[in-house]
Amino acid sequence: MRMIPKKFLSLIFLVGLLPACSSSQPDASARPNIVVTYSVLGSVVTDLVGDAADVTTLIPDGQDPHDYQPSARDIETINNADIVVSNGLDFEEGLLEVLATAETKGVPQFRLGNSITQRVVEGEHTIADPHVWLSPANFIQALPSLTAAINKATGLSIDEITATNQLTQLDSEIKEVIGSIPSCVLVSGHDEMGYFADRYGCTVIGAIIPGLSTTSEGTAKQLAVLKELAISNNVRAIFTGLGTPQNVANQLANELNIKAVTLSTHYLQGAANYREFMLNLANQIAEALR
Ligand SMILES: [Zn+2]
Repeated sequence: MRMIPKKFLSLIFLVGLLPACSSSQPDASARPNIVVTYSVLGSVVTDLVGDAADVTTLIPDGQDPHDYQPSARDIETINNADIVVSNGLDFEEGLLEVLATAETKGVPQFRLGNSITQRVVEGEHTIADPHVWLSPANFIQALPSLTAAINKATGLSIDEITATNQLTQLDSEIKEVIGSIPSCVLVSGHDEMGYFADRYGCTVIGAIIPGLSTTSEGTAKQLAVLKELAISNNVRAIFTGLGTPQNVANQLANELNIKAVTLSTHYLQGAANYREFMLNLANQIAEALR
């Protein structure tokens, strides 16, 4: 029988110990950490990076991103991110300061709204509509800059080809759904459906809260004007949701003898991903207007 050299004996001993003190799972903390502000955007970023990075969504699904206030823990999460991906265009009103501070401390930021063709709303001031996620075409436009920003901040080398193809496919499916109804005339909760309407040939005649944020308020006079517009445009449903006073929406719908339909426009609300979220939205609109 051959002698086993002493150095191999100690190796065998070490291997014998391994299952007790280590696991074969890769260390999750070694992956880059991408922090995304809201759930819809979080889903798109997850689809883009796959398993290459950890994606943390800050604002819990179901909460209004317009007025979400960060906790101390959220602030820590932001400050420890390899990159923060947000909507921008003043969408995350409660996070603006924290994000700006993190940026001055050197946490890289990507603001989606700066990489798309902005829908500008004329009012007292000219403001850019922040509801960019309601058209997949905006993501398709922003993906090259988003991908480049993630790669630069994390050292990854992902590409946007698969994500772009999936979004292009989704875009044509939504076109088909909305194209199947005779006309797409919308009354929305607040002024949130602009990008969707522009992309899919809908007309938004007004909103119960005539502002780009749920933190705005409407007046009785504005509501009376909206009612007249709804009558003259033969509107078939009112779409409400996040931040819309439900009693106001219901009353208007009753007076017009039409339905008030609740849509989820600002968070996934349990949808598995962005694709499901957008198809749910398109299908609900098409069903109500058919
Ligand atoms: Zn909104």
